[in-house]
Amino acid sequence: MPRKLAAGNWKMNGDGASLAEIDALLAAHPAPGVDILICPPATLIERMARRIAGGPVAVGGQTCHTAASGAHTGDISAAMLAEAGASHVILGHSERRADHGESNETIRAQAEAAMAAGLHVILCVGETEAERDADVTLEVVGGQLAGSIPDGVTGATLTVAYEPVWAIGTGRVPEIAQIAQVHDAIRAALVDRFGPEGGAMSILYGGSVKPGNAAEIFAIANVDGALVGGASLKAADFSGIIAALEAA
Ligand code: PEP
Repeated sequence: MPRKLAAGNWKMNGDGASLAEIDALLAAHPAPGVDILICPPATLIERMARRIAGGPVAVGGQTCHTAASGAHTGDISAAMLAEAGASHVILGHSERRADHGESNETIRAQAEAAMAAGLHVILCVGETEAERDADVTLEVVGGQLAGSIPDGVTGATLTVAYEPVWAIGTGRVPEIAQIAQVHDAIRAALVDRFGPEGGAMSILYGGSVKPGNAAEIFAIANVDGALVGGASLKAADFSGIIAALEAA
């Protein structure tokens, strides 16, 4: 069975004072019934990892370079994330694809580097609004899966996050049937390529998940959790999403 995961992506938000949100989250969920992951900015990974060491919340990065080290000003390697205390890394987020021109080929190489460093990859896919309107969502997502997931991944090394670009940070969420259609297609593609391991990979939904809409999203088949941006910044909001996933 895929594991249930509530993953928070803080993006370029948060400072030392924000670490108190993790204390509040742990107080609310001392023994959570689902996996919980927070991906803060790189500057906070080590402090967060130290603060919650031994507890039930994991810490992750938001991207990594394809190389282990070298002349890549401003970048961070998978091994550096791991040394700082990260166990996971988000790759292929639409903001990285758009702002940094990351292609499927680059993301695949990043995923290989991440797994070589022992990190679990959260690999993001999703269509733009224009692609949804053109009725090519399944083709786009299928191409991203085929192009960016390396061979040899397992349920223990890879999670997929379906994040329609037009739903991220907008307050807009696809209809339940639209989420169900894409998640079913992702599951079928994973099983087709990876066999039983494809059935063990978690598939998260991401895009304007809030405490108020989480329960109906988590009731959809093949939705194993959420990748959450804005609502992961405050423990009170993220806690509501975690509770909904525990109850699903
Ligand atoms: C995200 O950026 O991965 C995301 C899902 O953001 P939000 O929850 O704010 O829509």
